[in-house]
Amino acid sequence: MQVYADQAATTKISERALQAMMPCYTDIFGNPSSLHEVGRAAEEAVEKARKSIASAIGAEAGEVYFTSGGSEADNWAITMAAQLGAKKGKKHLISSAFEHHAVLHTLDKLKKEGFEVTLLPVHEDGLVRPEELEAAIREDTALVTIMFVNNEVGTIQPIEKLGEICRQKGVLFHTDAVQAAGHLPIDVKEMKIDMLSMAGHKFHGPKGVGALFVRKGIAMSNLISGGGQEKGKRAGTENVPAIVGMAEALRESLENREEKNAAVLKMRKRLTEAVLQIPKSRLNGDPDQRIAGNMNFCFEGIEGESLLLYLDLQGICASSGSACTSGSLEPSHVLLALGVPVEIAHGSLRISLDESNTEEEVDYILQTLPGVVKRLREMSPMWEHIQKGEV
Ligand SMILES: *Cc1c(COP(=O)(O)O)cnc(C)c1O
Repeated sequence: MQVYADQAATTKISERALQAMMPCYTDIFGNPSSLHEVGRAAEEAVEKARKSIASAIGAEAGEVYFTSGGSEADNWAITMAAQLGAKKGKKHLISSAFEHHAVLHTLDKLKKEGFEVTLLPVHEDGLVRPEELEAAIREDTALVTIMFVNNEVGTIQPIEKLGEICRQKGVLFHTDAVQAAGHLPIDVKEMKIDMLSMAGHKFHGPKGVGALFVRKGIAMSNLISGGGQEKGKRAGTENVPAIVGMAEALRESLENREEKNAAVLKMRKRLTEAVLQIPKSRLNGDPDQRIAGNMNFCFEGIEGESLLLYLDLQGICASSGSACTSGSLEPSHVLLALGVPVEIAHGSLRISLDESNTEEEVDYILQTLPGVVKRLREMSPMWEHIQKGEV
């Protein structure tokens, strides 16, 4: 049996998205910038997708820009807001300690260019406190960027409250919603979001495509110079099939969302309860204020990497945290931000499910995981000390 329990890393393209894309490789092959009929058909497909994505988040079509994915959308939004701020002498940026590296590394780059960055704490529950954001905002704050849902621990930030504070203070608010889009209701107007990033492959769309929402009236800077695509802000012939596939996948994901979430939540609750029966195990992040399919555990006395390898041998695909940092021996910056001690953070396991997973798969994980943890602990020199309470 193979169980794919790594839906937060990427998802399999849905049949519907794939079918929507196919004609864009054949009949609708034109360049959307061409004036003839073949080009116009491609342009129509792109604009239809833009409208559909915009309406899914309560935006207008003219506020949605296509990118190559979540990382590009994050990079673009943050550098754009920083440049805008700098023009007015505002060089302070606020974010949180457990953002995706697409955000954190962009902020690091801006720091080297003379910006000042404040990273808000996320506390043990993996949540930003609105009052701490309010206190951190200064006269010279140009941007607040805080993720909607964390990719490792799945916690859902109080986005509407954060947006309200930023709007009141007149500060731009960006959210990396890559883990939220397609999973949670989003309304950029109600939530007072100025910029929002998403990526197609996190909700059963194709890889290599994403979108950035930028509220009307924000003076956008150019990302790629060249032709007039994306209002001249991001040049290059559009990836028509991917754009169409992403729009279809988003529509499909949001259909019957509540039923899907309820089914996933049921699987998560059963799995979480049973896994926490394993001695010296813990669930990281708030147990309730998290996306339906996310579980992030730590098992004392073992290394997350070996756990993953053993699970993989049994056909279970999971993650130690973020796909982007696996392979590095550093413990997750997200778990450290939650205050998990370094030794414990090393033994982390993220299981991320969605509606494409089944109760039978949960059974299989439960038949397999406790035995694997036990075997690894028997091999671990640390485990004996931990049991004796010496560590
Ligand atoms: C996956 C992910 C990204 C990066 O998206 P790509 O499409 O892989 O560039 C950014 N932020 C979060 C929260 C993610 O989960």
